[in-house]
Amino acid sequence: MTFRNVSREALVGSITLGVVFVAGYFFGKKKSPTMSISKSHCEGKDDPLMQYVLSHSMREHPVLKKLRLRTMEDSWKIMMVACEQAQLMANLAKLIKAKKAIEVGVYTGYNTLNMALALPDDGVIVACDISETYTDIGKPFWKEAGVEHKIDLRIQPALKTLDELMAAGQAETFDFAFIDADKVNIDNYYEKCLLLVRKGGLIAIDNVLWGGKVLNPSPDDQDTVAIDKLNKRLLRDSRINLSMLTVGDGVTLAFKL
Ligand code: CA
Repeated sequence: MTFRNVSREALVGSITLGVVFVAGYFFGKKKSPTMSISKSHCEGKDDPLMQYVLSHSMREHPVLKKLRLRTMEDSWKIMMVACEQAQLMANLAKLIKAKKAIEVGVYTGYNTLNMALALPDDGVIVACDISETYTDIGKPFWKEAGVEHKIDLRIQPALKTLDELMAAGQAETFDFAFIDADKVNIDNYYEKCLLLVRKGGLIAIDNVLWGGKVLNPSPDDQDTVAIDKLNKRLLRDSRINLSMLTVGDGVTLAFKL
C-alpha cells in the first residue's frame, strides 16, 4: 500500500497517534523517578486496585483491625507496617514453622501482634523499641487477643538487646526477624539478626525503597544512603538468598543459607 492509497482519515488518525505516542514517550521520560509509599493506609487507600487486593485477600484478625484503626488516629501512622505486608510476613512465618521471632522497631505493635498471632502458643517474639510512648498503645490489644505471653518487649536500644541475645547463647535459634527501625543502623541490625537467625530462617527488612529516594540518594541524606548501601550489599551477600518486593514501602526478604 502506497501513501496515495491511504484515506485522509486514516492518515490523520495515524499522524495523531504518532504525535500522542512521541509526546507520551517524552513526558514519560520527564516524569519524576520518585514513587509514593503505596501502603494501603497511605496513598494506597484511594487506589481502587489496592482496595481490590485488600478486599480479596485480607483476613485480618478482629483485634489486629482494632489496633490498626487505633493507630490510624496517631499522627505517625505512616510508620505502621501495611496490613497486607504484615499478613504476608505472618504467612511466611507459618510456612517456615517459626517459633521464635525478633522485631526491631515496634511503634504501636501492629506487626508484633500480627506475628504473635502467627506463632504457636509456646512461641516468642522479642520486640525491641526505645520508647514506651507508642508500645503502650499496643499492649491492651496484645492482651485482648490473648497473646501477650508470647511478646517479650525490651525497651532499650535494639543493638543492646540483640547483643544480649547473642551473649545468652541464642545465636542461630531464631526463625524470623523483622527490621523496621532507625535507618542509619540498618546494616548493624541486619548483621546481628543474621547471627541470631537459624539457617533456613528469614529476615524481612522494611522500607528498602524509602519512598523512591534510593533511586537518587543525596549524600547528605544518611537514611537513604544507609538503605541504598545495604540494598547493594545484599545483592552480593552469599550468606542469603533474597527477594526485594514492592509491597508497602519495599521489603527485602533475606533467606539465610
Ligand atoms: Ca517501616
